[in-house]
Amino acid sequence: MKKILISTFLLSLLLLNGSASAGELRAGAAKVDITPPPGVSLDGSISKNGPVSAIHDRLHARALVLDDGTTRIAIVIVDSCMVAEEVFDGAKQIVHKQTGFPTDRMLMAATHTHAAPRLIHIGTNPIDDEYHRDATQKIAQAVLQAEKNLVPAQLGHGSFQLEGLIACRRFLCEPGSVEPNPFGETGERIKSVAGKSSAVIKPAGPVDPEFSVISVQDHQGDQIAVLGNFSVHYCGGYRRGLVSADYFGQFSEQIQAKLSTTGKLPAIGLMSNGTSGNTGAFQNQGRKFQPFEGMQYYGRMMADKTVKLIEELPHNSDLDIAMIQKPLTLHVRKPSAERVEWAKGILADPDAKTPHRWSRIYANETMHLSKYPETTTIKLQAIRIGDLAIASAPCEVFAESGLALKKASPHPKTIHIELANGYGGYLPPREQHELGGYETWPARSSFLEVDAERKIRETQLEMLESLK
Ligand SMILES: [Zn+2]
Repeated sequence: MKKILISTFLLSLLLLNGSASAGELRAGAAKVDITPPPGVSLDGSISKNGPVSAIHDRLHARALVLDDGTTRIAIVIVDSCMVAEEVFDGAKQIVHKQTGFPTDRMLMAATHTHAAPRLIHIGTNPIDDEYHRDATQKIAQAVLQAEKNLVPAQLGHGSFQLEGLIACRRFLCEPGSVEPNPFGETGERIKSVAGKSSAVIKPAGPVDPEFSVISVQDHQGDQIAVLGNFSVHYCGGYRRGLVSADYFGQFSEQIQAKLSTTGKLPAIGLMSNGTSGNTGAFQNQGRKFQPFEGMQYYGRMMADKTVKLIEELPHNSDLDIAMIQKPLTLHVRKPSAERVEWAKGILADPDAKTPHRWSRIYANETMHLSKYPETTTIKLQAIRIGDLAIASAPCEVFAESGLALKKASPHPKTIHIELANGYGGYLPPREQHELGGYETWPARSSFLEVDAERKIRETQLEMLESLK
């Protein structure tokens, strides 16, 4: 009798929580404004955008919760350059304490807009710390609100190609033509961000031009949410001190404007970053854009194509959901004693002649890395929704890694979301490490071991296979 009572109690709790019977999809979405107040730092370790002085367009945390009656998952996309694991973990704990949502069923990722604070403690003023705490609370609020908004739903997915908007930003150059790196080392073969070469041969890698779409509607066909996924680093064209969510925010707001139904909750657009660690901003196709104009143009174009695709997509409510999370421990590329001495020398003498205009920045980064632990443990996640799979990693993943994973995946359709559940820096494959270039230079933005890409990709594939 006692047992039956407990079961009934649990069942009513589940019902109160909005769960449905197995195979009947429910979905809810929400967004919460996370725009920083004036004064919060927009600086990275290299780009210095100064403190916030004005808002061009607002930043949000956007959440999509899906529940098949047995398994509940959340996908949360945050308008930030990158978000530390402890910020996401803090948000997951807040949600878990309030509703019991398992913390390992929440995928939280940053978009990589560069006109937003880095939620990884680069800024050190009290106002920056306050923003971290505030953003943590608000990311949690987005999930809690999305849970409250759960209604019976149907889901469809598809994709289109956007070749013209994407390019590899690492260029393979003739031997001997590339300037020394910030540490004064010669022999690199890559011209990338801040690199110089007299003889470019070709792009050093492929791009993934697939724009993927997950459409979630209620049973009347009214839009609940749209999750987009594309692999361009960011669009840029900012002004110093101005906050912007870049094309990620433009896409999301366009989706809301185009697909919301009067009398219902607004349609929430979420724009996730795929595998853009080595891809450049948009090709301007001969256009000259004013500040902020390019991101608006491309955000609108992506949303227009997405709306057209959704009209043709079959939607289904009989879908089962599965999700797994796995820790992976990797070595950190810590600086040698010799490198630390070099860095101390550079930093001790402000007049010292340096081999590269960024040598001082990298000397400073060397000192940061010298205090890192020998190993770090990252979170990898894999999700399956019917025949659709999603893999995630906390890094700035290269296009070739994503393409290889999509090809090897046992699922009919696979999406990759980068910058998820923490920040592990750039993830060049071993052969790209050997070629050198900005993305490989050791810093807080590139610190995982040389074989991290292979280990992460192989683990992601095992996880996708176990969800088959
Ligand atoms: Zn980046």
